[in-house]
Amino acid sequence: MRAIRLHPFPDAQHDCPHCLQHLDVFGWHTPGMRNLADLRCSICGRQYYGDLAAGQALYTPMLLEKEGGVVYHKHGVEWFAHWLRDSYAHRTEVPVPFEVEKRLPITREVVLLNCLDTLYGHSLLKLLNAQYYLEGEVDLILIIPSFLAWMVPDGVAQVWIVGLPLKRGTEWNDWLAREIHRRVEDFQSASLSLALSHPNPEDYNIERFTGVKPFPLEQWEDRLKRPTVTFIWRDDRAWQMPADSSTAGVSKKLRRWVTRPSNSGAAQRRLVGELAETLRCEFPTLDFAIAGLCEEGNGDGLPTWVQDLRRTTMDDDHERRCCERYASSHVVVGVHGSNMLLPTAHAGGLVELIGSERWGNFTQDVLFRETEDCRETLFRYRFVPTSTPPLELAQLVRLLLRGRDSFRRLMNAGPGSV
Ligand SMILES: [Zn+2]
Repeated sequence: MRAIRLHPFPDAQHDCPHCLQHLDVFGWHTPGMRNLADLRCSICGRQYYGDLAAGQALYTPMLLEKEGGVVYHKHGVEWFAHWLRDSYAHRTEVPVPFEVEKRLPITREVVLLNCLDTLYGHSLLKLLNAQYYLEGEVDLILIIPSFLAWMVPDGVAQVWIVGLPLKRGTEWNDWLAREIHRRVEDFQSASLSLALSHPNPEDYNIERFTGVKPFPLEQWEDRLKRPTVTFIWRDDRAWQMPADSSTAGVSKKLRRWVTRPSNSGAAQRRLVGELAETLRCEFPTLDFAIAGLCEEGNGDGLPTWVQDLRRTTMDDDHERRCCERYASSHVVVGVHGSNMLLPTAHAGGLVELIGSERWGNFTQDVLFRETEDCRETLFRYRFVPTSTPPLELAQLVRLLLRGRDSFRRLMNAGPGSV
């Protein structure tokens, strides 16, 4: 089972950095996103908190000395060390909203899946681990931030909803730790989910989480009567063409855009507009929309026929409506990031703009749909530089829309298969 012992005494393997002695385990402490063992060295008496093997700590566990707050880590993952060091230094006991939903009686071994995090994608990916336990002989308790409550699948025994916004996601909150501990003490024993950072697509069905059935691949061709494309917007990581990039071969209009000094929001709107217009030349019945979070909420520069589904804030209903839009899309287009998780989980295919600074995170933001043939997967999921001009991008989207059927025949996928 993908879990370790948590209660009453957790499985923890840490050594004292001073004595190199295996540390004794006295209990556990979950003050937020971090699941920690309470540890003591039997030789020098120093006390520590050590990461339990869950989430990122499954790969890069760290040790914090209670006296002084020094973090020991040997994996070179400074951002994860910083979160621990900084949160401990600023720990709080101020209560946070904590709501308990008891959905099913608990009769079996309890597994706790802690989805708290400061990054949206990390929280969401942890939550996708839930399905694995729902199919096992255990009772699952989810600890989730309130913004993910709408995605809790049926079959979870209890949901503990914590009102911690993402910006406070690394918070070390001793009130929260006591609250979680007190509730787990009701059970004789409990385990902690490994909360894999990137669960295998075979282990979850997105429909169980969002209630939205993904794009029916077997209807790809039929649905070309109205080709559907959605651009996924985010303000902070824009589709941008560097002013010094070659503009040879692109339209005069586009060349003017590229060389015009402008803010990234306006520039991105124009690029998306050009993409949409170019595609519509080829597909007069095109259904093109733009979705995502957007501070400015300004559609200036977008063609009037483009649906603008962007919002400054998300709520559960709008999240679901967006998933329905992704699920009706042959292709979603967008810049690399966690903004692409739900779109890729539901859409038929993807064209992703990814900058070289994100190459190390390749595919971490894609929820692949299960396919048997890797050639088909490579066909439907394309990655191009963020400097790709809209005309080239349109060419690629057109290829996906129109070329899938002939590609599959060429690859001998066989008639009737999806
Ligand atoms: Zn020691």
